[in-house]
Amino acid sequence: MTSTDDERFMRRALELAATGRDRPGAGPIGCVIVLDGQVVGDGHNEVGIRHDPSAHAEIVAIRRACESLGRDDLRGATLYSTLQPCGMCSMASIWTSIERIVYGACRTDVHRMYFEDRHLDVLDIIDDAFRNDMTATGGLLLQECAALYYKPGDDPPEQEQANV
Ligand SMILES: [Zn+2]
Repeated sequence: MTSTDDERFMRRALELAATGRDRPGAGPIGCVIVLDGQVVGDGHNEVGIRHDPSAHAEIVAIRRACESLGRDDLRGATLYSTLQPCGMCSMASIWTSIERIVYGACRTDVHRMYFEDRHLDVLDIIDDAFRNDMTATGGLLLQECAALYYKPGDDPPEQEQANV
């Protein structure tokens, strides 16, 4: 997989995030899962559409990928997300045997409302405790990805806030 491929798939994740931003009940996070150079699942945050707090973009994409492939794991796959995956989605990636996580904006690039944990970086925990064969790399198309989110010093409208 070349860096050009990575950018191409992240641009698709950005498109999905923009769709999620503009769709009532959805959220501005996009995810694409690629296996053997093919997109096998994708999605944006659908929490408010499904009234399902687990319907993060990554979970939506993992479910679609496993369903379309008729498999319970995504061994060898790469997960692209416009924002660093949260703890739930990171763990789901572990359980799914995803090989690479590539994300755009990092937790320090965005408002703290996007993350459930205040002091720990879940990806470090995963690295230390669960898998040493899974890589997680951030900062791809950082400016475009970060532009989707409230910044650390912003004051988001109360009804949009979570985890604060
Ligand atoms: Zn998540």
